[in-house]
Amino acid sequence: MPRNADLNPVASGLLALASAGNFSSLEESAAPLFDCQSCGACCSYSAEWPRFSTEDDAQLDLIPQKYVAADESGMRCDGVRCSALAGEVGKSTICGIYEVRPDVCRACMPGGDDCLMARHAHGLPTL
Ligand code: SF4
Ligand code: SF4
Repeated sequence: MPRNADLNPVASGLLALASAGNFSSLEESAAPLFDCQSCGACCSYSAEWPRFSTEDDAQLDLIPQKYVAADESGMRCDGVRCSALAGEVGKSTICGIYEVRPDVCRACMPGGDDCLMARHAHGLPTL
């Protein structure tokens, strides 16, 4: 699978967190307000967000091809929603490839700026 490592503005910020090893996207937050499993907003915010970046080929090969964008630059999205997201945003969601999700997804922190932006866009509480 060819790799496209160009970074979008959001990803670059997320990658700083990723490089710090601070991964927690879609993990249950200590704060009920930011319970990822009843949210999913960041997985349904922009087709530009779940892009491939720092992953190596071995990591990317674990992602089922049906979830990969045609140009293989990131996750395939239906509109702004990642195709791997199941459930209803703001109610109950789950990442269908959680164990092998891209690094930008791991770096999106519950309560962080990107999280709050996505939650706000979906009309979900941000405080
Ligand atoms: S927007 Fe925040 S709370 Fe919602 S799934 Fe993403 S990281 Fe979790
Ligand atoms: S791969 Fe998983 S964590 Fe990443 S955007 Fe898609 S559903 Fe969300």
